Amino acid sequence: MSMRVRLEKEFGFEAAHRLPRVAEGHKCSRLHGHSFRVTLEVEGPVNQNQGWLVDYADIKAAYEPVRDELDHRYLNEIEGLENPTSEILAAWIYDRVRPRLPQLKRVTVAETCTTRCVYEGPDRS
Ligand SMILES: [Zn+2]
Repeated sequence: MSMRVRLEKEFGFEAAHRLPRVAEGHKCSRLHGHSFRVTLEVEGPVNQNQGWLVDYADIKAAYEPVRDELDHRYLNEIEGLENPTSEILAAWIYDRVRPRLPQLKRVTVAETCTTRCVYEGPDRS
């Protein structure tokens, strides 16, 4: 019997940013930092021999170079993150992890305990 599953693995990184395109006086226009939390979700069929979809260690290995680019950085200085909203950051992470992790289906970026942005890849509609 075949079965499909979704695995989730959560990571964290610390970084500073400011949002240059918000209205003047908006609090996000000021330099500030977050303890960002990133959740990567992979989806697919369980390998019947191994009994799993992918090794969690493979998810970590695919993400680690990306984390190194983000952790303890000023995000606005990174190419592609000149306007580092959660939305743009989630897509930026997705684009970098996906080539190393083809089963990647969803990237969630949380700036705070109560806000999250979920990105599921380029719009195919
Ligand atoms: Zn912020």
